[in-house]
Amino acid sequence: MKELRAMLRLGACTVLPLILFALILARLRSLPPEPGRDTPAPSAARESEEPETAASEPREPLPFSPDRKRRVRLITPEGTLDLTMAEYLPGVIAAEMPASFPAEALKAQAVAARTDTVWRQAGRSPHPDGACCSDPGCCKAWLSEAELRARWGEDYDRFSATVREAAEATDGLVLLYGGEPIFAAFHACSPGRTEASENVWIEALPYLRSVTSPETPDTVPDFTSSVRLSYNELRQTAAEQYPGLVLTGPGETWLTEAQYSDSGRLLTVKLGNTLLTGTQLRFLLGLRSTAVSWTFGDEEIRFEARGYGHGVGMSQYGARQMALDGTDWRGILAHYYPGTTVGNMPDP
Ligand SMILES: [Zn+2]
Repeated sequence: MKELRAMLRLGACTVLPLILFALILARLRSLPPEPGRDTPAPSAARESEEPETAASEPREPLPFSPDRKRRVRLITPEGTLDLTMAEYLPGVIAAEMPASFPAEALKAQAVAARTDTVWRQAGRSPHPDGACCSDPGCCKAWLSEAELRARWGEDYDRFSATVREAAEATDGLVLLYGGEPIFAAFHACSPGRTEASENVWIEALPYLRSVTSPETPDTVPDFTSSVRLSYNELRQTAAEQYPGLVLTGPGETWLTEAQYSDSGRLLTVKLGNTLLTGTQLRFLLGLRSTAVSWTFGDEEIRFEARGYGHGVGMSQYGARQMALDGTDWRGILAHYYPGTTVGNMPDP
């Protein structure tokens, strides 16, 4: 990443493709290791609940459906599928957000996911021919009808209608900045504020600023999480990942010079003799976010993280809370992606 930063300093105008490629790379790197996800895993318990708001009236399909005309090439473990956006998107929404979330949050998720797909198709996909894959650690999660039937059981008809409605209600609409589809990053939840893009990746994107986010520990399961490591475990884990990293002296002296962003997330910290970014520490220790603090015990270090995910762009639990408080999908997206407009997706 340092090399990329140096390259980017050479001249922003000539390296836009590099920036975009680096953003994709950084996004891949930012995703948490298994079993963590940056989005709320829709739990069976949660989805057996009633929807959190009354389902909106089903809408007649539009006479002209951009989503049914748009092709999406999808790479799955079982093979490559040629789908329309209308066929693809509900499987993404269902995989990325609990179907019991309010309808307006699901619509916001639909637009973010459609935007991300179109953004990748415009020469930024890591796969040939602008394809997307169903690996949440690479592109976006996607679940097939069979997988959703297994997940939702007797609620399949109800929830599949819910996610399909979120896609159809926003048919063909994407988030634009300067007339172009944006890099529509999203994450599970934020502790108070989202994070600015440059604090996680490379580029300070004008529409990925730090904004307030209304979810609270009372409204998000496992809002706070902890990881405990003995001093020996930390030394071994760090040495495996960073062979030059040396930890000597009392354990309380191993983590120094911590720098935090305005949103309260760890930017950099010195672990022994090595400066790590907050994201590097997050993945080294399997933390759910970089909004992390730590305490030193006699036998172990206890890391406590708040929120879940990289923190950039739309918070899904924040979108849920905004929807419950009466904000529609356009208002949710305008809040989390400031300066953007909603418009038709451009031709491929
Ligand atoms: Zn992929």
